[in-house]
Amino acid sequence: MRLLMLPGDGIGPEITAATTEVLSQVSARFDLGLELAEDVVGHASLAQYGTTIREELVEKAKHSAGVVLGPTATFEFKDPSKGEVNPSMLFRKRLDLYANIRPNRTFPSLPNRIGPFDLLIARENTEGFYADRNMEEGIGEVLVTPEVAISLRRITRHCSERIADTAFRLAMTRRKRVTIVHKANVLKITDGLFLDTCRRIGANYPEVEINDELIDAMVAHIVRKPTRFDVILTTNMYGDILSDLTAELAGSLGLGASVNAGADYAMAQASHGSAPDIAGRDVANPFSLILSAGLLLGWLGDRHGSGPLRAAAQAIETGVASAIAEGEVTRDIGGTLGTGAVGTSLARRLAAAVPA
Ligand code: NAD
Repeated sequence: MRLLMLPGDGIGPEITAATTEVLSQVSARFDLGLELAEDVVGHASLAQYGTTIREELVEKAKHSAGVVLGPTATFEFKDPSKGEVNPSMLFRKRLDLYANIRPNRTFPSLPNRIGPFDLLIARENTEGFYADRNMEEGIGEVLVTPEVAISLRRITRHCSERIADTAFRLAMTRRKRVTIVHKANVLKITDGLFLDTCRRIGANYPEVEINDELIDAMVAHIVRKPTRFDVILTTNMYGDILSDLTAELAGSLGLGASVNAGADYAMAQASHGSAPDIAGRDVANPFSLILSAGLLLGWLGDRHGSGPLRAAAQAIETGVASAIAEGEVTRDIGGTLGTGAVGTSLARRLAAAVPA
C-alpha cells in the first residue's frame, strides 16, 4: 500500500519527516506494509521541474492508496504561466476531494481559554469563493478596471448534497448533532441553496439533531460555548476560517489536522500553511500532519474494511494524546522538544505500546 509523501514548503519538510517516522512505526507494528514514496511539490518542484506540481504527480497520486501533502507557500504562487500552481487546489480538484474533514478537540493537560470541546468541521472543498477551483476554465476572479475587482462564488446543489451527506454520516458515528453554518440572510440565493440542500439531506438522518447558525454569530457561539457543537457543516471559506479558530482554541494551529476525501481518493493535510516565520528552526508542531496521516489511515481502514488500518489510526490518535499528557511536545503547546524529537518520541511510544 503506497502513500505518496510530499513535504512541500516552509515547515513542510520538517513535519513531513516526523510524520514519515511515525507512519513507518505504525506500519511495522500493525503489519500494514506501507510504502512511503517521497516526491516533490512547491518550491522544490519549481526549481527542479519548472512547475510547483507536475501532471504526472496527479497520476501517481491516483495510483497510490493516499497522499500526505505538507503545506505549501501558496501565497507565493501567483502566475500559472510560470508553473506557479497551488498544489493543494490541483489535488482537491483533480481527485475530486470534496470533503475537508477537520476534527478539533481540547486535551485535558493543555490550558485552554474556553473550556473543553470536541467537534468536527465538514467543509465543502471544491467550490465556493475559491476562485482557482470553481470554474471549468479561467478563474472566478476578474479585474474589471484597475479599481474594480469581482470575485465569483459558486454553490451547487450537487456539491452541497455530497458534503451534507458526509457530515450527517459522520454525525451518526459521533454525538448525532449537525450545525449548518451559512449567511443565508444576506447571500440568500447561494447560501440559501446550501442551507436548503443540507436540510433536505438531513431529513434522511432522523436520529440527527439539526440546527443552523449564521457564520458571524457562529464565531461568537464557538468562543462562548463550544460544547454546543458536534459536527459543523459549512461551505468552503467559512470552514477554512472556522477551523483555524477551533485549532487555535484547542491549543495551537499546530494541532490542526485534516483529511480531504472524495469517493475514490483521500489526502492528509495539516490545516495550517507553511509557517515561514518558524521554518527551518525545528520548532514546528508536527502533530497537525501526524494526526492528519492518522485520519487518512482511518479513511483507508473504513474503505477497505481493514481492522489493522483502523487500529493504526486509533493508535496515532491515542499516542498523540498521551504525548501531550506527558509533555513530550513542541513549544507552541508548552513543551521543549524540537519537531524531530517529537516525531521520534511518538514513534518510540507507538512501538512500546501494547498491541491493540
Ligand atoms: P500559517 O498557517 O502558515 O501560519 C500562521 C501562524 O501559525 C504562524 O505564526 C505560524 O508560525 C503558526 N503555525 C502554523 N503551523 C504551525 C505548526 N505546525 N506549529 C507551530 N506553529 C504553527 O499561515 P500564513 O503565515 O498566513 O501562511 C504562510 C503560507 O502558507 C502562505 O504562502 C499561505 O498561502 C500558505 N498556506 C498554505 C496552506 C496549505 O498548503 N494548505 C494553507 C494555508 C496557508
